[in-house]
Amino acid sequence: MSRKILVPWVMPEMGRAVLKKAKVEVAFLHGPRGEMPDTATLIAAILKSDVLIARGDRAVPRKVMNAHPGLRGIANYGVGYNNIDIASATELGIPVTNTPGVLTETTADLAWALLMATARRVPQAHLYTRSGKWPLGGKTFMGLDIGPGGSNRSKVLGIIGFGRIGQAVARRSRGFKMKVIAYDPPLKALIEATRGVTYRDLEDLLRESDFVSIHCPLTAETHHLLGPKEFKLMKPTAVLINTARGPIVDEKALLGALQQKKIAAAGLDVYEKEPNLTPGLSRLENVVLLPHIGSATEDTRGQMAVLAAKNAIAMLRGKRPKNIVNPEVFGSAAYLRRIGE
Ligand code: NAP
Repeated sequence: MSRKILVPWVMPEMGRAVLKKAKVEVAFLHGPRGEMPDTATLIAAILKSDVLIARGDRAVPRKVMNAHPGLRGIANYGVGYNNIDIASATELGIPVTNTPGVLTETTADLAWALLMATARRVPQAHLYTRSGKWPLGGKTFMGLDIGPGGSNRSKVLGIIGFGRIGQAVARRSRGFKMKVIAYDPPLKALIEATRGVTYRDLEDLLRESDFVSIHCPLTAETHHLLGPKEFKLMKPTAVLINTARGPIVDEKALLGALQQKKIAAAGLDVYEKEPNLTPGLSRLENVVLLPHIGSATEDTRGQMAVLAAKNAIAMLRGKRPKNIVNPEVFGSAAYLRRIGE
């Protein structure tokens, strides 16, 4: 019996080529804008497939996994996997993979671009110049220094989540002579051993930082990690950058903090209820808003697709994939039943 991989979204060509070269059977489908289809359509398609290559724009809940007792794995296209119910997957004996590493530098680039654009109000000034209002005068677009600036004071960059992307952002700050502090409880020892970076608990990091950049995963623990209490701790001149996941920040509380000038500005790539924004957020002058494009370069998205395809092929063949998120699955009775051993 031939087994099938389901790709329910428009996959970059580099990933398709890997699937083609491996001569595996693939079912492609997608929603009207290239996105993953609704749960009912997904369930119907999963019934005829053995491995799912999922994308973060739609949740993969337990009822999707339950639809097919022979589902051999879920390969996520993305390093974050909060879209997948991992606890259920593990319990049901379904391995889940992600695509770490290949998007680290690209996402750090975007975080840095957003930090600079937000501090110096680049998009606002660009729109003003394009609008033809410049000759009328009146706008100066005062921004915030990233480097030492006129006061010659090194600015403090606070990084929440000092993993691959957090560290890559820290590297980018060196040219700006910033002082880097980081919060990541499991990596406290690594942070303390990293030259030029100092560990802080979350409250101290928020109090001291001129820029706060979020790079932790979305988990039950990090949901609304920043809310009204945390915004009160921040400097009124501080800038918040979030390129991790929207629900790490209480978006309504952020809107209030920006409106009341409790913090100076925010640069966001991710939102609590994507693609919808908290009403009022897009009308603020002190925000720069991007549509979740952290890893969006052709090369990087292609490499993510390659990794997801390779992981899917391994799981289709009952082998251990490279980027396994729930390794405890292997050897479990539930997994062995799924692969028919
Ligand atoms: P990573 O290497 O796993 O780094 C995340 C770090 O955060 C880890 O060191 C992790 O520790 C730490 N952490 C976990 N819980 C924490 C907490 N409560 N407080 C502070 N730190 C905590 O992951 P990455 O590759 O850097 O990616 C980070 C996140 O970026 C992903 O999860 C994803 O959601 C997001 N992302 C977004 C885009 C985009 O398009 N905007 C693109 C790529 C990635 P442990 O490992 O011990 O848990």
